[in-house]
Amino acid sequence: MEVIRTEKVTRVYKIGEVETQALRGVDLLIQSGEFTALVGPSGSGKTTLLQLIGCLDVPTSGKVFINGKDVTSLNRDQRADMRRSTIGFIFQFFALIPTLTAYENIEMPLLMSNGRSATQIRDRVNYLLEAVDMADRAQHRPDQLSGGQQQRVAIARALATEPSMILADEPTANLDTPNGHQIMEIMTRLNQETGVTFVFATHDPRVIQYARRTVVLRDGLIDREENAEEEMIFAGD
Ligand code: ADP
Ligand code: MG
Repeated sequence: MEVIRTEKVTRVYKIGEVETQALRGVDLLIQSGEFTALVGPSGSGKTTLLQLIGCLDVPTSGKVFINGKDVTSLNRDQRADMRRSTIGFIFQFFALIPTLTAYENIEMPLLMSNGRSATQIRDRVNYLLEAVDMADRAQHRPDQLSGGQQQRVAIARALATEPSMILADEPTANLDTPNGHQIMEIMTRLNQETGVTFVFATHDPRVIQYARRTVVLRDGLIDREENAEEEMIFAGD
């Protein structure tokens, strides 16, 4: 089933007189349950594409469909609703709320969405803490956690409201190698167990090796694709 589709998506940034063509016509189709990496050199448009898919930004031209719905025609509030109901985000710098504990950070999106009782919320937070192996750190604040532990909390938070997709922008860029592998192993397991679609922007070879599908961007266009079954020819950047 189709989760993400972009059609001839462009994005031009204007700062004063300077125009940057960040995306120059991207056609991308992502099916439910994929574990896909967007790769390519710095400046190739990975973050821009993730922001458009994530309804954080709108394209200059072209269309973005999420679960078959054209999100480029939505207004600001409708885009926010689409994000809350459908999309979980994971960022390079974790982006946890510093004054809240691990438990409370995961609880936050559940408190902001309707339809769950207090007991259901508590059970869901505890399940997620277990799923990312952070149950013993539930009462720690972000500054009392390592980078890898913070990112595990961020993964749990992204999954909290059962989104249909998780978008992760350079999720391992601030982690050492063992923590980078642990994060990727947790995401792989959650992808397999829950079927949630994962899309990562990365140029980290440690991440790329876990991807089942790799979409290579270059200068704002899809340059080529590689699948895990085929021989990997990606050489990094
Ligand atoms: P990547 O994530 O692959 O490094 P980006 O999507 O961040 O690439 O950037 C693509 C191009 O768009 C780059 O040339 C970058 O400088 C430019 N760009 C990104 N964001 C902005 C912005 N907010 N304003 C102006 N230019 C931007
Ligand atoms: Mg980027």
